[in-house]
Amino acid sequence: MVVGRHRETKAVVDLGAVYHNVVEEKSRLQDGQELFAVVKANAYGHGLVQVAQAAKQAGATGFCVALIDEGVALRAAGLTEPILILGVNSPLEAVFMAQNDLSVAVGDVKFLQDAAPSLKQAGLKLKVHLALDTGMGRIGFRSPAELQLAVRTLQGTESQFIFEGLFTHFASADTNDTAYFDQQIAKLDELLAVVKQRPRYVSFANTATAMWHAKFSGNVVRYGIGMYGLNPSGTEVSAPGQLRPALELVSQLAAVKQVSAGTSIGYGQTYQAPADEWIGTLPIGYADGWSRRMQGFKLLVAGQFCEIVGRVCMDQIMIRLPHSFPVGTKVTLIGKNGGEEITAQAVADYAQTIHYEIISTLSERIQRVYV
Ligand code: PLP
Repeated sequence: MVVGRHRETKAVVDLGAVYHNVVEEKSRLQDGQELFAVVKANAYGHGLVQVAQAAKQAGATGFCVALIDEGVALRAAGLTEPILILGVNSPLEAVFMAQNDLSVAVGDVKFLQDAAPSLKQAGLKLKVHLALDTGMGRIGFRSPAELQLAVRTLQGTESQFIFEGLFTHFASADTNDTAYFDQQIAKLDELLAVVKQRPRYVSFANTATAMWHAKFSGNVVRYGIGMYGLNPSGTEVSAPGQLRPALELVSQLAAVKQVSAGTSIGYGQTYQAPADEWIGTLPIGYADGWSRRMQGFKLLVAGQFCEIVGRVCMDQIMIRLPHSFPVGTKVTLIGKNGGEEITAQAVADYAQTIHYEIISTLSERIQRVYV
């Protein structure tokens, strides 16, 4: 991926905010509970290694990733803490994961049966976290009998596997309606009844579970969105403590011109200036993760909201300015500017999605600047 270092479009990442958010969550944990920082997807767009290091300094004792490659990148950066890969992987990768000291989610017995021979041949042990599907419907053991078989298989293959953890994931810990959460808890109890000896890590909590259902967390919180300063529920449930958003998205006016009434702006002539007006062009577009759906949304220039006019292009967007501004004037797409603020939540609402998607799809082409 080529990073655009020679244009003034940047994701400004406040690692102090990451640190603060982790310290706050840690202060709410019970004795014996740990926090694993969820840094998958380039740390939700904030930068994998930088966030992992800040989280570690703030007291995170492990990491969660989605891809083997993300785990390998953390190891290459010198991080030695436990790294859990949250997704299931092919048994063909078992030796590679063991070589890199990565712990893997396992959701069926077949993985264990298929991975064991190559691990045996390589003389390596793979750390395993059994995934329990209590209602997410994504990965994991669904019946007590299957789970019992997995535990027995692990007990019978101790020279190939280390039964390091078990976890589940809640589908709706972030709403006021707790009915489905309660159903998942009942299912969890049913499954746990067959695991007589608990492994080292027992993890039931994402950010929402840790915030609003803390007693069901287990001994490891997998802390994702809260670490980036965003409320997992959006606006439905208020978050405890003071979350500090860690990312601002800024650009600048690369061109400014006055157009006369009737001038078309952008592909498809979707906007014609109703009067003479000032138009500014910024170097960011949908290839940077700024969706085409954002046409009509208002960005901040010197504390004033300026509408995106015309279609969002691949690499550029145009905004209507209240008057002329110098080329080089800062434009804020997410963050504070002149006493006003655009939140990731506001962007998500406009794009009809969630803030998770807004931040994690900011392309790696956008340079990250750390403050
Ligand atoms: N655990 C699992 C299995 C996940 O898939 C995720 C995120 O998608 C998390 C934890 C972190 O969730 P959050 O960012 O809501 O804290």
